[in-house]
Amino acid sequence: MAQRSKYTIRTSDRRVFRRCLRKWNFQSSIKGNWKSVGAESNIHFWFGSAIHFAMEDFHGENKFKDPRRAFWAYNQAFKAADKPAGADSYYELGMAMLSYYMTWYPRHNDVAGFETAYVDADHHLVPKGTPGATVGVEQGFYIPLNVFALVEVATDKILRTYWGKENIPEDYLQYLDVDESFIGDSGIELVLVPLMYHGTMDRIVIDRYGRYWILDYKTAKGADTNKLDTDDQISAYLWAFEQWYGVKAYGFVYLQLTKDPVKEPKRLKSGDLSIDKKQKTTYSLVKQEIIRDYGKVTNAPDKMIQFLNHMAEQESPEGDRFIRWDFVKRTPEQLVATGANIVGELQQMLNPKLYFYPSPTRDCMWDCPCRTLCLAMEMGDQDTVDNFMLNFEQRPHNEDGNIEPWRDDVPWPKEGEELIPLDSILMLDQCMKIELESKADDDDNGFTFMYESEEDC
Ligand code: SF4
Repeated sequence: MAQRSKYTIRTSDRRVFRRCLRKWNFQSSIKGNWKSVGAESNIHFWFGSAIHFAMEDFHGENKFKDPRRAFWAYNQAFKAADKPAGADSYYELGMAMLSYYMTWYPRHNDVAGFETAYVDADHHLVPKGTPGATVGVEQGFYIPLNVFALVEVATDKILRTYWGKENIPEDYLQYLDVDESFIGDSGIELVLVPLMYHGTMDRIVIDRYGRYWILDYKTAKGADTNKLDTDDQISAYLWAFEQWYGVKAYGFVYLQLTKDPVKEPKRLKSGDLSIDKKQKTTYSLVKQEIIRDYGKVTNAPDKMIQFLNHMAEQESPEGDRFIRWDFVKRTPEQLVATGANIVGELQQMLNPKLYFYPSPTRDCMWDCPCRTLCLAMEMGDQDTVDNFMLNFEQRPHNEDGNIEPWRDDVPWPKEGEELIPLDSILMLDQCMKIELESKADDDDNGFTFMYESEEDC
């Protein structure tokens, strides 16, 4: 792939495009392509990246043998001064969330039987053990959009676009697919680049029936399932999967981890279990404590059994308030529509007459990295604009925008080296105990894999 081919459109770009044209013009890789200088300062991005790294290792090469160790290593990769504010409390939160994941995942995956798929160098999905195959986590993809941009080398600016190869001037065609610049009619150094749809699939899994799914992790304040039917990332990734891997994905597993640590069931001063419905615990943990106190559930007082029933009602086959996964499908018609929608948005993005007006909302306070710039532009305050831009730099166009310099500083375990003990990196009384005791749960949680039939896929 030519170096300059990474003028990409991502789902996040499309969302920003719809959110605010001015912000999109600042951030998008086909426009300003600006990023802040230095380490990530947004705690939510930093934390999301930490959880993704922990999952990437655990369900990938598993060098750390436990996602909490990988999470610890991620934290170690940052100097204290480079961590965003709040990183320490988010570290504890992450450890608690991952500890619960270690109990949640085997119980739920028992039915689906997901395993990570393997991918060869030509992005074919291949059996485990195939020479040269790597484990299918953090899978980047690039889907050509059949649109080509003529770019000025000196400025990285797109001067014009061609829809379809057939519309590229004959003199320029020879420079497509080669990483070479050329001098155009106007004497400017140019390069011709294909525009690509780019994304990263967190994990490709294969279920017990041999069907492929895209699995994506989300960390959020609370799980949201209302958006799944219309979620554009799900649609775009399922649309891209078949083109990139040459086979259809059966569906999308949307795994949501709530930023809320699971707590052990509360006890009153008397030592009795609390029946406070607001406590942040799970059905299986309450049941365990009841069995510990009364020998079996039916020996417990009525109010305790009612409380246990209440806890059961809070859970569903897809999970509970702390972790849930939803299996989402798209019809072939929806995937065709997705491709058309992407092209439609791209036509607007590439409109040379587009005016990048602001779209202020109450969210500007927290969702916009260029709010200061936006305000200064409205006020015509050039000094502030210039000062603001000192804190930003353009991403190079020879990479895909996912710059992760911290990866170089991850303390990977060396060959033969003993792994750091878990009890030295997390608070055992808050995390580990939950894991060990939950494993003793022999309860059938009622989960049935919703896609058991051998339908076409
Ligand atoms: S502050 Fe709001 S209106 Fe201005 S660029 Fe940012 S998102 Fe757009």
